[in-house]
Amino acid sequence: MDIPSEIAPVENRAVRILWQDGHESLYPYAYLRENCGCAECIHEWTGEKLITKDRIPPDIRPVSVTAVGNYAVSIRFSDGHGTGVYSFDLLKRICPCTACRAVASSSSRARA
Ligand SMILES: [Zn+2]
Ligand SMILES: [Zn+2]
Repeated sequence: MDIPSEIAPVENRAVRILWQDGHESLYPYAYLRENCGCAECIHEWTGEKLITKDRIPPDIRPVSVTAVGNYAVSIRFSDGHGTGVYSFDLLKRICPCTACRAVASSSSRARA
């Protein structure tokens, strides 16, 4: 399981996660908001994305980041949305860096 060794905001625009395997991920706030997996943002049955980019304020930022057990963080955003729980597994999967995007598109990355 992927565990962050460090989670910190960067220049008030992104969250940086340093993983224990040495990988570094940078998540712009709007990107995190867009990838929220709660029932309000993703349809529970169809998996359809209910949150769209144009509904995310351009100045969106997290007002609080709280650890959930040792497997996830809960993020409350400045638009009042606070039901999103981001598991470390999800965060690693949605890492926007070029290396991870290349891996994600070339294989399904099947893992336990
Ligand atoms: Zn949500
Ligand atoms: Zn990455």
